[in-house]
Amino acid sequence: MKKALIITYYDSENYGAFLQAFATQEFLKLNGINAEILKYNSKTVKWLGGLYRLIKKPSIKDEKQVQYHNKMAEAVVNEQHRLKKNDGTGKFDVAILGSDEIWNVKNVSGAHDPFMFCRYKNAVKTISYAACAGNSAIKHLKCFPYAVGGIKALDAVGVRDDNTERLVKGIGRGDVVRVLDPTFLIDFGGYLPKRMLDEKYLFVYTYGLNSEQIEEIKKLAQAKKLKIVATGCYCEWADYNPAPTPFEWIRYIKDAEFVITSTFHGTVLSIQNRKSFAVYKSSSPKIQSVLKELSLLDRRVTAWNNLEELFDNGVEYSNIENIIEARIKASGDFLLSQFGKAIYTKPEKSWQNPVLTEPCYIARHKDRAVRWDSRSGGAFTAISDIVLADGGVVYGAQVNKDNFSVQHTRAVTKQERDKQRGSKYVQSDLSACLQNIKRDLVEDKTVLFTGTPCQADAVRTLADGIKKNNKLITLDFVCHGVPSPKVWEDYVNTYENVSEVNFRDKKAFGWGDHIETIVSNNKPIHKKVFTSFFHLDFISRPSCYECPYAQYEHFSDITLGDCWGLEKLASGFNDDDSGASMVFANTDVGRGLIKRALQSMDYIESTVANMKQPVMESCGMGTALPNPKREAFWKDYRENGIDFVKVKYLDNSFKHRIKEAIRPPHFIRFTIKKLLKKN
Ligand SMILES: Cc1cc2nc3c(=O)[nH]c(=O)nc-3n(C[C@H](O)[C@H](O)[C@H](O)COP(=O)(O)OP(=O)(O)OC[C@H]3O[C@@H](n4cnc5c(N)ncnc54)[C@H](O)[C@@H]3O)c2cc1C
Ligand code: SF4
Repeated sequence: MKKALIITYYDSENYGAFLQAFATQEFLKLNGINAEILKYNSKTVKWLGGLYRLIKKPSIKDEKQVQYHNKMAEAVVNEQHRLKKNDGTGKFDVAILGSDEIWNVKNVSGAHDPFMFCRYKNAVKTISYAACAGNSAIKHLKCFPYAVGGIKALDAVGVRDDNTERLVKGIGRGDVVRVLDPTFLIDFGGYLPKRMLDEKYLFVYTYGLNSEQIEEIKKLAQAKKLKIVATGCYCEWADYNPAPTPFEWIRYIKDAEFVITSTFHGTVLSIQNRKSFAVYKSSSPKIQSVLKELSLLDRRVTAWNNLEELFDNGVEYSNIENIIEARIKASGDFLLSQFGKAIYTKPEKSWQNPVLTEPCYIARHKDRAVRWDSRSGGAFTAISDIVLADGGVVYGAQVNKDNFSVQHTRAVTKQERDKQRGSKYVQSDLSACLQNIKRDLVEDKTVLFTGTPCQADAVRTLADGIKKNNKLITLDFVCHGVPSPKVWEDYVNTYENVSEVNFRDKKAFGWGDHIETIVSNNKPIHKKVFTSFFHLDFISRPSCYECPYAQYEHFSDITLGDCWGLEKLASGFNDDDSGASMVFANTDVGRGLIKRALQSMDYIESTVANMKQPVMESCGMGTALPNPKREAFWKDYRENGIDFVKVKYLDNSFKHRIKEAIRPPHFIRFTIKKLLKKN
């Protein structure tokens, strides 16, 4: 009989950790392999984890939370006798690293362990199965040479999610295989107790909810006449708040009318039991990944008041049964093939992200005036012109002239659309236009929604819920993040009698520079204050620092951006420094629209790979790291206001002030640059 040793964090006190270890063991056993779990005790992990918990404020302050947590941990630990443990003695055919976040090098609280990247000395082969790097990025992985070297040295690499797949490919290992979490591999039916509760109920599995979210869940339960069973944390607001064993926990899921969760294993076990469910906090890369893989992205809670809609729509498992079954089979085959048990075909070695070879146009509007009024090359105008000419409606961000806040507006004429031109570096408010978008779609109008990738994705989800075959086209851009509207409001209010604002004054300073202009008392004032807060990564929304859209794959029909690196790609194209756009399509609808729009633009065909876009290289791990002083900045900001943080956190040196005071306008600098180039 073949022998396997499973090396994983099996004893973390949560359902997912226990169930993944148990499922791997049982799946192998069912397939005639003697599987044991390494009685693993990492000094590094325990020591670093303990140190971290000492430094960090305890997240559980409430005594009742502590009691609940202890009860839940006990229920998990009590089931650990079901895991067959080995203290590292004997020889093994295959050592299996995983599953779960064993490669999360960014995880400071649990601390990763070099051991999880190592070939096991007493095994013929060492592989990974469903390993996950959490939200680590390639830059983090590369800080640990043993991690890179270890992964490269494995006999086979099976990973659980998009991000880990990208990281492994990024370090040059093209033969990585995507597999499902091991809890998909077995049928838990035979291990489960009888139904836990006679009443019908909603099942909530979460580590915490705010009061607004609790109210929405209560509303749903009331509307559907269901009880609420909540687990994962102390929830005095639920009808029942048990601390079940892992198998009782699955039983609760199995019999629930609907599951609401924020966790990966809550999501996976809902799918495993073919339950209708809703996931919030779905920006977690591992949750996004499994939802995407199984065509279930529409189960995300995009707004809490769409909970009832998710409940009513249910999940059409019959449509995706083939996908789920095929993925389970491929995952099982991969694991068994390591023991010579099944035929498994390896994918080709060299891999390249297919988006990189997608045609990408370096383009600028033929009309010079349009270019100067736009942030980049005016591609937005060229594309939206087509939609307007076809009788469609365009939604985009516009500055409100009354208070200089930024909102999304609806345009049916070119004049209205022109007000949406240009980048506003602040979060735009969508709330007023969502009803209009719904109405337009119901009336079968073609709608072009333009905005940040997260806004476009949310509107796409909304539209799919309103009407199948709707005529929504989405356009997004490479997005570095959106700053806080509050800071923008406070900043504008530091000036008197403001009549106009420009977040990035291209006409005055050219395409490359980033200087804001505020017209105060009829005098334009050019500054780099708000811009600097933004560029120093103090004021983007917290979600932007963990943005899953910061990657090559975009979910809109069309993606735009500034065509940085243009000089090297097409010297002379931007002869007047009015800017150039990069334009690429992500769908056939996008391709068709771009083809028509290119008629009003000068363009050169290139590929996405040629674009210089650091945000797209972030593997969905956020646009940037927040400034290390961000927390202190916000504390000071809240306590002392904008003038205080301006002095404390921005460059106020004499040299900087001189530079700010002598800022020659664009035409002078551009002419000098041109003359210097000629000579
Ligand atoms: C906050 C922000 C961050 C950006 N970060 C990058 C980056 O890192 N790299 C890069 O290459 N390009 C970035 N861009 C995109 C780029 O600056 C241009 O918006 C894009 O290339 C379109 O330019 P255009 O000349 O075709 O048309 P423009 O007329 O300039 O396009 C205006 C478009 O931008 C949208 N828009 C403007 N402000 C907002 C806002 N606050 N929220 C939502 N939508 C808005 C409008 O709805 C409209 O679709 C960013 C844009 C914004 C608004
Ligand atoms: S960076 Fe990401 S989260 Fe932030 S606005 Fe852009 S798309 Fe949305």
